[in-house]
Amino acid sequence: MRTRLDTLVVSALQQGSAVPAFTCYDFTTALAVVGAAEQAGRGAILLVAPKTAATPNGLRLIAALRGLADGASVPIAVQLDHAAQWQVIADAVSAGADSVLVDGSSLPYEDNIALVRGVRAALEAQGADVVIEAELGGLAGDEDRAFGADAAGADAAGLTDPAQVEDFVARAGAQLLAVAVGNVHGKYKGEPRLRWDVLQDIAVRTHIPLVLHGASGIPAAELVKAAAMNVGKVNFNTELRTGVLALLEQRLAAHRADGENLQGLLAEWDREARSFAAAALGTLSR
Ligand SMILES: [Zn+2]
Repeated sequence: MRTRLDTLVVSALQQGSAVPAFTCYDFTTALAVVGAAEQAGRGAILLVAPKTAATPNGLRLIAALRGLADGASVPIAVQLDHAAQWQVIADAVSAGADSVLVDGSSLPYEDNIALVRGVRAALEAQGADVVIEAELGGLAGDEDRAFGADAAGADAAGLTDPAQVEDFVARAGAQLLAVAVGNVHGKYKGEPRLRWDVLQDIAVRTHIPLVLHGASGIPAAELVKAAAMNVGKVNFNTELRTGVLALLEQRLAAHRADGENLQGLLAEWDREARSFAAAALGTLSR
């Protein structure tokens, strides 16, 4: 059943859990994620990258994901990830995205607030019921391609300033807040150094759920602490891609030799993505 992103996340937090969100560049991965969520009896979030949403086929993927969410036996939300351009947001929402990360994190503070407010007002004017996530503080790295980012890079990109949180949330009017606390997009070079002290400082200053992006590479032992800090949504991308690509590389020749067996290869892709999603669901569920 398709469920509002904020409803899904708030109810998970009330049970001491966070909801994993997985970037889906394709339908096979989305099917695996929803299958894992149904098996676990827990909700999940399907993320669509802005580069995907900026293409006609990407918009068709969003429509397909919405259908998948509608038919699922557990709560599923479909979110447009990291969008800053109005046309991409409007198209994705028309195609079926029911939540959007309006990402003004690379803009100056006031411009970030203005972007979120502007998108919210424009969506309301269209009568669209869309849940908005905003982002404060810059995350190092690239969402769609895994380049290494180290702790120094994460700090240089800018941690979320806890002193800005209250004002930002009140004025931007988002329902969820993505934070930068030493997490990075893509791959960590060396040990990830999450700033739990900064996260705790942020958590006491707002009641809206927090979001952690770039969870790939953060050890499960760290991630289990997230919900206790009001982190209700955790985004996974790199690790899922790495697992699927490594598997395809490993198994491709055997399936080619087996009569060009694409179905067999897709079944393995499904198993790989499903087990990754199941592990993430397990880690975040307490
Ligand atoms: Zn992100």
